Amino acid sequence: MSATAENPFDAIVIGGGAAGLMCALTAGQRGKRVLVIEHANRVGKKILMSGGGRCNFTNTGATAANYLSSNPHYCKSALARYTPADFIALVERHRIAYHEKELGQLFCDDSSKQIVRLLLDECADGGVRIETSCTIEHVRHGDGGFHVDTARGVFSAPALVVASGGLSIPSMGASGFGYELARRFGHTVLPTRAGLVPLTLSGKHQQHLADLAGVAVPVEARCGRARFRNFMLFTHRGVSGPAILQISSYWNPGDDLRLDLLPGEDAQAWLRTQRTERGASELRTVLAERLPKRFAQRLCEHWLPDRPMRQLGDAQLRDIAAVLGAWPLVASGTEGYRTAEVTLGGVDTDELSSSTMMSRRVPGLYFIGEVVDVTGWLGGYNFQWAWASGHACGMAL
Ligand SMILES: Cc1cc2nc3c(=O)[nH]c(=O)nc-3n(C[C@H](O)[C@H](O)[C@H](O)COP(=O)(O)OP(=O)(O)OC[C@H]3O[C@@H](n4cnc5c(N)ncnc54)[C@H](O)[C@@H]3O)c2cc1C
Repeated sequence: MSATAENPFDAIVIGGGAAGLMCALTAGQRGKRVLVIEHANRVGKKILMSGGGRCNFTNTGATAANYLSSNPHYCKSALARYTPADFIALVERHRIAYHEKELGQLFCDDSSKQIVRLLLDECADGGVRIETSCTIEHVRHGDGGFHVDTARGVFSAPALVVASGGLSIPSMGASGFGYELARRFGHTVLPTRAGLVPLTLSGKHQQHLADLAGVAVPVEARCGRARFRNFMLFTHRGVSGPAILQISSYWNPGDDLRLDLLPGEDAQAWLRTQRTERGASELRTVLAERLPKRFAQRLCEHWLPDRPMRQLGDAQLRDIAAVLGAWPLVASGTEGYRTAEVTLGGVDTDELSSSTMMSRRVPGLYFIGEVVDVTGWLGGYNFQWAWASGHACGMAL
């Protein structure tokens, strides 16, 4: 099937988010006739709410090592062919002012709206047609093409790109649509779960820490081989903050989760020095120099001996250092998709081409962005995957 007067499109993109718009503008500017179908009342809603309204649009250090996937090699090709520098060049071409916050994370100085405007302007340059508030009723495959039944009629094209995102933040238009469609076309969908998400606590932890909501602590969070050094923030139901959001993507219920509360410090040597220099001070007073006072106090009430330093022997100092260096945090679960930034798992990459994102099962069918089993760390990596996978697909259409 090729584009005709009755079937004017070369490709239909389902989902007007980061990946879908990048794919559409890339293909459109190559002369392809592209239709984007978005069921929400506007495109790019997640971009608008991202980065606290300033969109952390990429990370200058993005490599495959910053992504979780059952096939860690899958994302390499697309990431290499559309790099952070490529997106930065686009941002600069649109005269959008930006800054690096930390760790290579780039944010708009002004507003996420500028990134959506950039994508829409580039789509307009490529003649892309965008239908918003358009509900898809059914997708059929036959006569050499795909036929999408919508409330606005049937749209057909030889290529169909699924860019409908993951399950996080259902109130923003997230749906399981892409996963269901993938299954219907014979694709394996790996189990999905919430990622970059606050953790909930129960029992002793919940009981003794809930009233610390708002207190931030620098930690190194560890789970298995993953470790992230950054802030943890107590919430009313558990813990959040960048270190926790990052480790949450690696944590499964029942996994051992540890926090180093004095990251980068030899805790035992430091405690010994404190004992020598300020033997009359209570442990809680000493700890309050390195940790928020209320947290230090709570630790000494429930996890550590609360005594003057001079009463603590070497063995006790060793035990205290062990707790401070690997405090076990017993999480009961996550806050779920309601607050998660991303969805882990998704369409199995083994059945997709890593250079074009096309299905190995159904020629002409493509999957890009978050619906695929590729999930980035916190810090602009997820948008970089959306841009890179969208670009790879847009070049192949
Ligand atoms: C609060 C929040 C903040 C974030 N901040 C950042 C950040 O600063 N940096 C970063 O890198 N990542 C961030 N992320 C993650 C990032 O937003 C996503 O990884 C990225 O948007 C995924 O792009 P996508 O195009 O695959 O999916 P999406 O951007 O989610 O787009 C999918 C689109 O498909 C549409 N859709 C769904 N189902 C259908 C259907 N049946 N028919 C038609 N359309 C449909 C949706 O409405 C949506 O517009 C954040 C996420 C959240 C939730």
